[in-house]
Amino acid sequence: MKRLTGNEIRDMFLEYFRAHNHMVEPSAPLVPIDDDSLLWINSGVATLKKYFDGRTIPENPKIVNAQKAIRTNDIENVGFTARHHTFFEMLGNFSIGDYFKEDAIRYAWDFLTNSEWIGFDPSLLYVTVHPEDEDAYRIWREIIGLEADRIIRIEGNFWDIGEGPCGPNSEIFYDRGPDFEPGAPADEMYPGGENERYLEIWNLVFSEFNHNKDGSYTPLPKKNIDTGMGLERMASIIQEVPTNFDTDLFTPILAEISRISGHRYGADAEADVAYKVISDHIRTVSFAVADGALPSNEGRGYVLRRLIRRAVRFSKELGINRAFMFDLVEPVSEIMEGFYPNVGERKAFIKEVIKKEEERFLATLDEGIQIYEQVKKKAQQDDNVISGEDAFRLYDTYGFPYELTKEYAENDGMTVDEAGFIEEMKQQRERARNARKSGDSMQVQSETLARLTAPSTFTGYTSKSEEAVLLHIIHADNEVDAAEAGQDVELIFDRTPFYATSGGQVADKGEIQSDGTKLTVNSVYKAPNGQNVHVAHISEGTLSKGATYDLEVDAESRNFIIKNHTATHLLHQALKDVLGDHVNQAGSLVEKERLRFDFSHLEGLSEEETEQIENIVNANIYRNMAVEIEEMPIEEAKQKGATALFGEKYGDVVRVVDINQYSIELCGGIHVRNTGEIGTFKIISETGIGAGIRRIEAVTSKYAVEYYKEKEAVVKEIAKDLKVKEGQVNKKVSALLAENQTMHNEIKELKASRQDEKLAEATHETKEINGVPVLSMEVQAEGAKELRETMDRLKSRAQDTVIALGSVNGDKVSLVVTVPKSLTDRLKAGDIMKGMASTVEGKGGGRPDMAQGGGTAPENITSALQFVEDYIKSTL
Ligand code: ATP
Ligand code: MG
Repeated sequence: MKRLTGNEIRDMFLEYFRAHNHMVEPSAPLVPIDDDSLLWINSGVATLKKYFDGRTIPENPKIVNAQKAIRTNDIENVGFTARHHTFFEMLGNFSIGDYFKEDAIRYAWDFLTNSEWIGFDPSLLYVTVHPEDEDAYRIWREIIGLEADRIIRIEGNFWDIGEGPCGPNSEIFYDRGPDFEPGAPADEMYPGGENERYLEIWNLVFSEFNHNKDGSYTPLPKKNIDTGMGLERMASIIQEVPTNFDTDLFTPILAEISRISGHRYGADAEADVAYKVISDHIRTVSFAVADGALPSNEGRGYVLRRLIRRAVRFSKELGINRAFMFDLVEPVSEIMEGFYPNVGERKAFIKEVIKKEEERFLATLDEGIQIYEQVKKKAQQDDNVISGEDAFRLYDTYGFPYELTKEYAENDGMTVDEAGFIEEMKQQRERARNARKSGDSMQVQSETLARLTAPSTFTGYTSKSEEAVLLHIIHADNEVDAAEAGQDVELIFDRTPFYATSGGQVADKGEIQSDGTKLTVNSVYKAPNGQNVHVAHISEGTLSKGATYDLEVDAESRNFIIKNHTATHLLHQALKDVLGDHVNQAGSLVEKERLRFDFSHLEGLSEEETEQIENIVNANIYRNMAVEIEEMPIEEAKQKGATALFGEKYGDVVRVVDINQYSIELCGGIHVRNTGEIGTFKIISETGIGAGIRRIEAVTSKYAVEYYKEKEAVVKEIAKDLKVKEGQVNKKVSALLAENQTMHNEIKELKASRQDEKLAEATHETKEINGVPVLSMEVQAEGAKELRETMDRLKSRAQDTVIALGSVNGDKVSLVVTVPKSLTDRLKAGDIMKGMASTVEGKGGGRPDMAQGGGTAPENITSALQFVEDYIKSTL
């Protein structure tokens, strides 16, 4: 066996399958593109879904890739098993309806054991198969020649993620020998058990059934192969080191941690866990940020936040007490730069993001300690046990590891409900697993469109109408030869000027006709083999296959769409100009009435930034810049400096949209010939739509003018109401506001003096009861506070009077009562209040000289006030 570096293993894998006629797919970004169902790309197949469920047919059915993946459900394993990461690379070969089980197994075996390639000792390899998969068993046994006792049948070997393609799988294990046994229970000591001796390196999935909506399974029209091999695990075996962390994919990171902490890796097992956690998490975070994710409180961003916090927590084990993770971005980018240059390219930005987040967390750790103090008090009042729920909340929300809570609790003479905590963790994992399961789902393969291979030429870049031959009519998912008025159909022609939805640009609308036949085209999409499919409704006549029709795109709508498309390119570049190069397109919608552009950026834009961006776009419109579109080899386009959209897949020949060298993008959309055609550009909103993703909506041309007109109408209306000229509106409004404030103050003063007069009158209602002056009355007050204020005013006028006041607000009663100090030994305000409050069905109490209360029975307020007099009569 040759000793290979991690990079060499990756290259060798790609090379092996390239030599066997596979096409190499680039590693897609970790943030899924056009796939809301998935939080992260978690396997090689996740980026190839469209091929697996038949939505798109690949140029070459044999595919190989090295795909970066994030698996958050493995987070708790990281640092504790030698073989799990949150970020890892999966090497995979795929067949889309081409070779199947036998070749997949042969390739895997040849790559692993052939001395020209990896050259493992075959006697150290074991495999598992599904118990009912006799085919796989036979191939391993008879064709490969594995002994029967090295083929283990395991029920769980069936790959099924709900609706979509599924099938049995076969996993390959490497036996690392008895030295790796310690720590695992004896009954787990077999390939497929929970142990470190038999290491799962490769999983071959034989995708052969459709899992249908109704839960039934039917054979797939096209059987597929999907395999995944863990690069880090392969490296640990080939480099003959104890764990993945001792391979060259990790050691430079460990060395840097060592340098920062002054602590040696390998010195003690507990500290080594911290090394593993930190080095794992920094890879995940660096790559995720490079691919456009940012820490936040939800979804993807929350995962990053948790990872950074977990790593920082573990850094305490190494005595690190400051932000340091950002320094590890350096070794991560160096190790990976050959294959993944984007971490290095965006290094400065990644560091800044991580550093900010670390500093923020170091501040929240203090917050965690405060939460712990609350939890502690609660437990002390109870049974001195911190509940599993609280321990989990501390862990999950405040990044407090369980061990830390336990340690603190022990110091405080308490215990933690460990079983409860484990249960909470289990539920959390369950949630993650379910989220992943539902997220993985694909569409059920449909055969009808996939079978249609005759090409359809798109002529819409230069024309809006076309005479074309109708090649296929699809009605209710079946191909038919004719269709009639009233039916909804999907049509493919030999040529078409209709643009199909793609690259953010919406499809064209329009009409199709011939003598006596008329159709409206509502949408257009791309078939698996690339033809434009027209979704249309037949309003008149009949339709027949092979006949010729006039296709007519709605010109007005198309003209506005293309203005918005070119404006989108100008906006993209202006954003980079103003905010920086980290701005990347995260989504785009180009419609007739407006454009919408999503991009990565940490903070909301200031008004100045927004205006600056708008000004730049408009300046470039007024410059009348030529838009030149050219097809060229991808290499040439890159040399020109073209911006390729993140993760978008391009063929060898690409279409380059060049706006006078100012903006150069790869794009398949339709554009104006000169920026002047856009007329004018106006941003109408800027909002955040998720972790570090901002959204701009803008309008151009006629729609921008309409927008301004609406605003103008508002000003006109106001001017009319104010009876001033439009230019005077500002001044007039300021004057009105000032006047309003003065009036407001005057009213307040008037109210107060009016109240005072009322109170003066009120004191006349004072009665003498058993020699004590008593004033008991209902007043108007908005709630308890205002009632108390009225009370204070009255008291200053009648110091020796027992005063009781009540007020009603909706269905609530507020009460207050005061007793002069000289009387409190005989009469207690609190006692009076109790009686008053219960009369209005409420509660109250207070000091002997002053009490407050309230209730919910306003109809009894008179009785409550009467109660005061009765009480004094009977008490004094
Ligand atoms: P395991 O059972 O060991 O957790 P798995 O069955 O979940 O792995 P698969 O989904 O079959 O893994 O992925 C294919 C290959 O990817 C595995 O054989 C392994 O080599 C690698 N792999 C999977 N998960 C991880 C991980 N968390 N860290 C590193 N490598 C992994
Ligand atoms: Mg597996």
